[in-house]
Amino acid sequence: MSKEHNNSTAITPLFSAEAIENRIREIGKAISVDFAFATSASPLLLIVVLKGAFIFAADLVRTITIPCTVDFIHASSYGSGKISSGNVTIKHNLAIEGRHILLVEDIIDTGLTIQQIEAELMTMKPASISICTLLDKPETRKHPVVARYRGFIVPNAFIVGYGIDFNEQYRGLPALGKLDS
Ligand code: 5GP
Repeated sequence: MSKEHNNSTAITPLFSAEAIENRIREIGKAISVDFAFATSASPLLLIVVLKGAFIFAADLVRTITIPCTVDFIHASSYGSGKISSGNVTIKHNLAIEGRHILLVEDIIDTGLTIQQIEAELMTMKPASISICTLLDKPETRKHPVVARYRGFIVPNAFIVGYGIDFNEQYRGLPALGKLDS
């Protein structure tokens, strides 16, 4: 990732495409071991939190070697800009009763989004829910959620790239960086 993007906003590189690829391979292996009991009759269900986790999930699913299926849930807490609205809007059309769920998220910050998604999914009687996040910001946690799998711990900064946006921009950057204010 170049330091300058669009000649206007500076992005400080954090994790290269190669570092992300290597870490995801490790996570995919761990998931495949932990859910080795999954079968094609009873596959692991990856529920991808849109939009930010779409690239992470696309790469992750290709490293998982056990039977799994993929579905999506849409959650948004940021309106436009960098300030979370504090209201999480969740949209989905899922049937998950009796399924082992892996929730695939881009970033856990305060924990509000994933906590609300988990609470809503729990009402639908899954067999289990585990959380997999690409990035974790433990410093800013306000809601007690724990990710079973996490790619990288990041400081309290605004991250973009690799599917993660600022006002819908930067999702296509192959690496992760910090948007300088
Ligand atoms: P939480 O509800 O945990 O506070 O926030 C989770 C959501 O906020 C993430 O799924 C992500 O969409 C957004 N978010 C949190 N931190 C960042 C960040 O550093 N950059 C971007 N682009 N989004 C973030």
